[in-house]
Amino acid sequence: MAGKGCSLCGKPAVIRLFDPERRLCADHLLADCAERVGAALEGRIAPGDRVAVGLSGGKDSRLLLILLHRLLASSEGVHLVAITIDEGIAGYREETMEAAAELTSRLGVDHRILSFSRLFGADLDALLTNRVEQGCTVCGVLRRRALEVGAADAHATVIATGHNLDDEAQSVLMNLLRGDLPRMVLDTSGGLPECFIPRIKPLSILSEKEITVCLMVMGEFVDLPECPYAGGALRGEVREILANLEFRYPGTMRRLISSRDQVRDIVGAIPRQGEIQRCLQCGGTASGEICSVCRVLERSDISSGTMIDERDTDAIDR
Ligand SMILES: [Zn+2]
Ligand SMILES: [Zn+2]
Repeated sequence: MAGKGCSLCGKPAVIRLFDPERRLCADHLLADCAERVGAALEGRIAPGDRVAVGLSGGKDSRLLLILLHRLLASSEGVHLVAITIDEGIAGYREETMEAAAELTSRLGVDHRILSFSRLFGADLDALLTNRVEQGCTVCGVLRRRALEVGAADAHATVIATGHNLDDEAQSVLMNLLRGDLPRMVLDTSGGLPECFIPRIKPLSILSEKEITVCLMVMGEFVDLPECPYAGGALRGEVREILANLEFRYPGTMRRLISSRDQVRDIVGAIPRQGEIQRCLQCGGTASGEICSVCRVLERSDISSGTMIDERDTDAIDR
């Protein structure tokens, strides 16, 4: 990158992007990302909305909160509340919780913390005894529910999560590889009255690389430990395949997501009203008689070797 300037102003570039090909200086990178996220929010958030931001403290959710705080500051009557889920992962959560608390207090954003132990009676480490390999799946199912509970408690009208372009593209390909088209076209961004609050992913147009460099030039990058349970087997392989394809054919991830959106447009909104049931055990939303939360919690006591299907989780809720 040395010696080459920003494609827009000639100042020293901090990032080289390939879709489309361009180099950007710090100012133009930030402006570009903020503008694209702003456009992605168009029509998604209205005056009077209460937006619950899933804040793990990691980089994606960090940038999400910073950008939403900036972009919505001028919106009349939009209220932000950050929700951090404490899964109870020893040696990992402490630092990210601190980072989340520091950021919210500096921005002056309401911050709520919900723990697995309070919501589900045990922390993740305890729930994963004898099934560590299912860590991401169990955690994903429970974290999704925890965020819904936190958002409902905060009277949120929208939930925003920090999924990035890479996460989204991986999820599309994973669903395709599993032959699970219904899950691939599932779209929760519009919500479903009485069932769930709309969930939006404003960063899903930004690559992991753009997010990392944005935080670095803002002086907001915090080097945090990786989750000890990170990475399901399939997601790890899909991540590598897509990173290789993106390198050789820039725009691959964006086009993959666009293919999914085209299928969504053809089949129409899913889930439809009436397709969601109430779980017989906990009353939560379920696609069958028993919700995925009750299933993963029950299995903690059963020493059956049955794998919980990874498709129960949408993607990693950052
Ligand atoms: Zn520039
Ligand atoms: Zn249930």
